Amino acid sequence: MTHHDSSDRQGFATRAIHAGQEPDPRTGAVNVPIYATSTFAQDGVGGLREGFEYARTGNPTRAALETALAALEGGAHGRAFSSGMAATDAALRAMLRPGDHLVIPNDAYGGTFRLIDKVLVHWGIDYSVAPVGDTEAIAAAIRPETKLVWIESPTNPLLNVADIAAVATATHAAGARLVVDNTFATPFYQRPLALGADVVLHSTTKYLGGHSDVIGGALVTDDAELDAAFGFLQNGAGGVPGPFDVFLTLRGLKTLAVRMERHTANARAVVELLRGHPGVSEVLYPGYAGMVSIRLAGGREAALDLCKKLEIFTLAESLGGVESLVELPAAMTHASTAGSLLEVPDDLVRLSVGIEDVEDLLGDLTRALG
Ligand code: PLP
Repeated sequence: MTHHDSSDRQGFATRAIHAGQEPDPRTGAVNVPIYATSTFAQDGVGGLREGFEYARTGNPTRAALETALAALEGGAHGRAFSSGMAATDAALRAMLRPGDHLVIPNDAYGGTFRLIDKVLVHWGIDYSVAPVGDTEAIAAAIRPETKLVWIESPTNPLLNVADIAAVATATHAAGARLVVDNTFATPFYQRPLALGADVVLHSTTKYLGGHSDVIGGALVTDDAELDAAFGFLQNGAGGVPGPFDVFLTLRGLKTLAVRMERHTANARAVVELLRGHPGVSEVLYPGYAGMVSIRLAGGREAALDLCKKLEIFTLAESLGGVESLVELPAAMTHASTAGSLLEVPDDLVRLSVGIEDVEDLLGDLTRALG
């Protein structure tokens, strides 16, 4: 959960604002220009001025974001994708071949499960599920043909936490590699590469972008060969973000540190209120960041009722933006897990606590819970 280590030359907030984002050498612009261009003139065949050739392969605005993301995760290489799912797809296809097996959480973003369960299985890839909080169970799920252990921590939506260092040790002992989806913690709170993970994945749509105005994803790794494979898929499969989306994500990143502090402060106050409320049977919160999941004493009807009555918390999918959101995972973000080992309780309400005035958020919850 650390966001500083002795090898960092600059603090986290400084890197979020400056890494990869030096003033434009030609004009002095303090923000990275939006390079809205699909192609780059060559000085003679193969004569690339700055290494840029065609914008599916690489674009200077995207390169700035990739440098910034790598710096924040403390990794050597970053790759930006058009969505978290495009990043997930690239990671899975770069790291798995037909006949391989992977271990996934029994509690994870429904879209990740859907991609593995509905798409990858047709390419001869098999999976097992294990709880991320139980390293022994993960180790026990590893088979001789396991090439990948995939975890989220904290998980979406039950906010279970993995011992990433222990999972990395167990994974590597079996000759497999570990991918950690760090979307919920963000590198402000947790840096999986420093804990032994091979790859960090983000839906930058969430806290990194931070304003619910862009869809994006990223992969960060220290492994040059893996990074090359991810880059090959950026170019070869094409799931890359456009320069405007990249600019918005870079703009969001600059305030990540202050936003995360405020998300946490507000979420802690929300947790304190909800823990004492008779209408709430369980409050799930890992202690940091803005995601809080609750189960309602009155079951599914009470959960639906709460979603309907909240006003400042907007009923919508997604999370990690400045505005507070509420959703019912069983019917919304996690509908694809129905009937599977990843099915979520139907009385579960997921809150993304935003950075509004906390009194307003507490008032909204108190009124809506009745
Ligand atoms: N990983 C997690 C933990 C998520 O919550 C999400 C989206 O909700 C994704 C990945 C997929 O990201 P995107 O929606 O940007 O494709």
